[in-house]
Amino acid sequence: MRCSMAICSYHLPVPRSTDDRSLDDIVDKVENTIPLTLEDGLLLYESEDLWTVCNLADSVRKKLHANCAYYNINRHLNYSNVCALSCKFCDFYRKKDEEGAYEHSLEDIENEAKMALDSGATEMHIVGGLHPWLPFEYYTTMLSTIKKLAPTIHIKAFTAVEIVHLARISKRGRDGIAGISSVISELIEHGLGSLPGGGAEVFDERVHDEAFRGKISGEKWLDVHRVAHELGLHSNATMLYGHIESRRDRISHMITIREEQERCIASNSSGCFQAFIPLPFIPGVSELSKLPGPSGIENLKTIAISRLMLDNIPHIKAFWIMQTIQMAQHMLQCGADDIDGTVMWYDITKVESDTTNQSQSIRDLCRAIRDAGFNPVERDTLYRQVERDGKEWHVR
Ligand code: SF4
Repeated sequence: MRCSMAICSYHLPVPRSTDDRSLDDIVDKVENTIPLTLEDGLLLYESEDLWTVCNLADSVRKKLHANCAYYNINRHLNYSNVCALSCKFCDFYRKKDEEGAYEHSLEDIENEAKMALDSGATEMHIVGGLHPWLPFEYYTTMLSTIKKLAPTIHIKAFTAVEIVHLARISKRGRDGIAGISSVISELIEHGLGSLPGGGAEVFDERVHDEAFRGKISGEKWLDVHRVAHELGLHSNATMLYGHIESRRDRISHMITIREEQERCIASNSSGCFQAFIPLPFIPGVSELSKLPGPSGIENLKTIAISRLMLDNIPHIKAFWIMQTIQMAQHMLQCGADDIDGTVMWYDITKVESDTTNQSQSIRDLCRAIRDAGFNPVERDTLYRQVERDGKEWHVR
């Protein structure tokens, strides 16, 4: 598999809203596809000319994807919220036997696979906490059970820290590349199709030590994705922003992802990053609940700047579950080209409701995309266009 960026000839000059010329150099660089620097990224954040920042990002997005906006039909499965770690920004995890702690049985997982098949889903997105006692076989059986019941469904599963956890509990060691490679290979044999890209947070040591000390480092997160890419899996990369990190930390994070993608392309790896997904911090009842989280303007800027900084990542996703569907519509006009899928059940973060049952019908997702001025395109996990007739589907 190779990642391809569908460059089309659709290209508009960037309209300017003010007489402020401070972004001129950046506009020139973007129009000449010259990668932006850390200082460029900071200038974009500091600019009061939001309109130009968003239009510039929109021009790049239209060059890559014309008027298409992608969605998929998927189901999320959070197999357990029991976690050995206690990241300060997380209000998902519970300790074993704490009220609200759960782990899904394999029977539950079978039911999920049947429901996914029944809903015509093309993807199951599976992540959970670092459960201290579930054996490695639980995870391999989970994958093979889903694959047996729903062989057409792509399984996108496990963040990098879960992969490292699985290497440890399967006695392959916590840190070695060989252990990581061996565990991913075994998961592929049981049906793993790609990595979702969560848990990157922000690659900065200060932020790591203050907000998620027990979690793997940025280097380790990159190691896991590099190994997955070498083994032929595509993946995504996320960034959790709007908590204790600075804007500079965010831009550095984006540049690190861009450099890793460059390395990946140069080394001819068969997998690569497909999408970058900025995730706004939502305070909830986390240990950082005193913080306000990012504003709507900061969310828009972050999406737009992600599109501008990450010139070698094909897709920028406005994850509607955490951004809201209304904000995701605006984001489609400011650099994003994907809004994720129908979802159904997502337990990790709740923006608008106290329930884990968060879903959008296909009709509502498509209407939201059309209202924003784009053509909805159903994709599978690997961004291939899906042709659908009810629950029956195939890729073009
Ligand atoms: S963010 Fe992930 S690793 Fe950290 S506490 Fe939450 S579930 Fe556990």
